[in-house]
Amino acid sequence: MTTSVETLGERGSAAGLMSRLSDQVRGVRTRASGFGYDRLMMVAGGVLMPVGIILILLGWAGAARTPFAWEQNDYLISGGILGLGLVFAGGFLYFSYWNTVRINESRTQTRQVIAALGRVEALLSGGASVDDTGRAIAAPRRFVATPSGSIFHRPDCAAVAGRTDVKDVNVARTSLKPCRICNPLDG
Ligand SMILES: [Zn+2]
Repeated sequence: MTTSVETLGERGSAAGLMSRLSDQVRGVRTRASGFGYDRLMMVAGGVLMPVGIILILLGWAGAARTPFAWEQNDYLISGGILGLGLVFAGGFLYFSYWNTVRINESRTQTRQVIAALGRVEALLSGGASVDDTGRAIAAPRRFVATPSGSIFHRPDCAAVAGRTDVKDVNVARTSLKPCRICNPLDG
């Protein structure tokens, strides 16, 4: 806490404080969505449960030591009931931790399945390659020309549609001009 008081004194201005606060909130959010929050739940659960059990044992030991009912009540409440509460809270945190792990695993699996389906879909629709997330990678563009032509086209241009004698054109090396109907070099 001393650090935040010192920083507050240094910065002073409300704007500085606000930006610092939002930085911290962002940090909390990032941790919550990452692995840190899971770990926190696991550790808290692992600490709360034994502490609760120790409290119950202490309460029992305390209550057993005194013959007075009113004193036993104190031990029962602070040792027994509080201990029981902590055991439950710890167990719930532990349970939540495993649930989070399970959910994360199933999300990863779903992502992998979707990516695989994307690859299958891309292959079925004409062999475009895809990256790991299933997004299509732009295929190298192909241009064609007729054997005697002086212009080159997109393969689907109306001027070459249905022709089987077209040859591939390397745009970087060709002296042919781009077609004005299909504008092969646009987009
Ligand atoms: Zn054309």
